[in-house]
Amino acid sequence: MDLNFSAEDSAFRDEVRAFIRDHYPAYLNEKIHEGEEMAKEDFLAWHKVLHQKGWVVPAWPTEYGGTGWTATQRYIWSEETAAADTVRLMPFGLSMVGPVIYTFGTPEQKAKFLPRILSGEDWWCQGYSEPGAGSDLASLRTRAERFTGDDGKEYYRVNGQKTWTTMAQHADWGFFLVRTDPTAKIQEGISFLLIDMKTSGITVRPIITLGGEHEVNEVWLEDVIVPVENRVFHENKGWTCAKFLLAHERTGIAGVAASKRNVERIKDVACKTEDGGEALMANPFFKRKVAELEVDLAALEYTELRTLAGESSGKGPGPESSLLKIKGTEIQQRLTELALEAAGTYGAPYFRSMGEGDNSFAVGPDSARRTAPVYFNMRKTSIYGGSNEIQRNIIAKMVLGL
Ligand SMILES: Cc1cc2nc3c(=O)[nH]c(=O)nc-3n(C[C@H](O)[C@H](O)[C@H](O)COP(=O)(O)OP(=O)(O)OC[C@H]3O[C@@H](n4cnc5c(N)ncnc54)[C@H](O)[C@@H]3O)c2cc1C
Repeated sequence: MDLNFSAEDSAFRDEVRAFIRDHYPAYLNEKIHEGEEMAKEDFLAWHKVLHQKGWVVPAWPTEYGGTGWTATQRYIWSEETAAADTVRLMPFGLSMVGPVIYTFGTPEQKAKFLPRILSGEDWWCQGYSEPGAGSDLASLRTRAERFTGDDGKEYYRVNGQKTWTTMAQHADWGFFLVRTDPTAKIQEGISFLLIDMKTSGITVRPIITLGGEHEVNEVWLEDVIVPVENRVFHENKGWTCAKFLLAHERTGIAGVAASKRNVERIKDVACKTEDGGEALMANPFFKRKVAELEVDLAALEYTELRTLAGESSGKGPGPESSLLKIKGTEIQQRLTELALEAAGTYGAPYFRSMGEGDNSFAVGPDSARRTAPVYFNMRKTSIYGGSNEIQRNIIAKMVLGL
């Protein structure tokens, strides 16, 4: 593995850095910093800038809108966007259903959906999990029954409930796993459907999370009629699409670049925070925690670089993605714990979920403002995308051969 960046890569880094500096909508960071709720248009503002530049889906094949960047260039891109603290693009269209459609979809599906995913016109949500089907996803029970309509066309009638559906309240379309053959072995009777979220019979109900945010939802489907042409890949073979998508979901989840930025931010706060007459950063217990995090983060970074080097030489993401997910999310959570510790009592007024906190006027230093909401919000990372326990099972089986 060659860890030195080439002259071309360094020039690319300069180009990316200049582009972000000149084109990133700065008001977004002010909004985040002020703790204001982000609207759909806010998430889309950066998306649209990148779409115009042709940089919205670096990892897609160029024929569908990808940039053709090397794995190293994609790594530089993720480092630079993290360093500049740009808003995260919503992954459901760009990183999840988009790759499923260009890999398994019909020419009509590609023509209809891919351009609108790229432009941001269609916002997607993921209808996989159900009450009783999370880690054991294949036991899902949402049912799709096929019938011929009065117009002679083929349709599915869908009934069931999905849960934890992130951002469904804003979604134009959803990709759903549904059971089309209840008599087949559980993984063999599932199909992958694209459903217009405005279809009659769909109800989206909010779930307010520990952080006091409306990010996830319950989605109820009652006699929802979906044209068969909206099914991706063969009937009862949706599990193939589901597994392909999950592998994509886990890559990039390590979040090394963002964690590096957060370590620096915590160090900066701890240098300015007084603790018993001296800077918190001078406290040996605190300093030790920061140092341990930095060591683990460096190890994670090299593991990610090794995976990247493998990808450059044609090796697809394997069980390494499970490893990156576990270590990456553990580090992200430890960072939020340390940030809250550094904020101390000034974090408390912003405990939104307690019903009483979330001061509308500032208390304490600005840096304390987002620590509690982010701390609570980040508890999710070890659960979603396949819980960390499940990732450990994958490593035990695929890497250790247990
Ligand atoms: C914030 C958030 C956003 C989400 N967004 C979406 C979304 O947009 N779309 C979507 O479809 N889903 C979404 N999910 C759902 C997520 O994928 C599931 O929560 C996850 O797969 C775990 O399933 P579960 O919640 O049913 O827990 P369970 O599967 O019931 O697991 C409960 C606990 O048991 C452990 N466990 C279960 N089985 C095993 C085993 N075999 N070995 C060891 N331990 C085990 C788990 O690790 C976990 O700790 C989201 C979840 C969260 C928290």
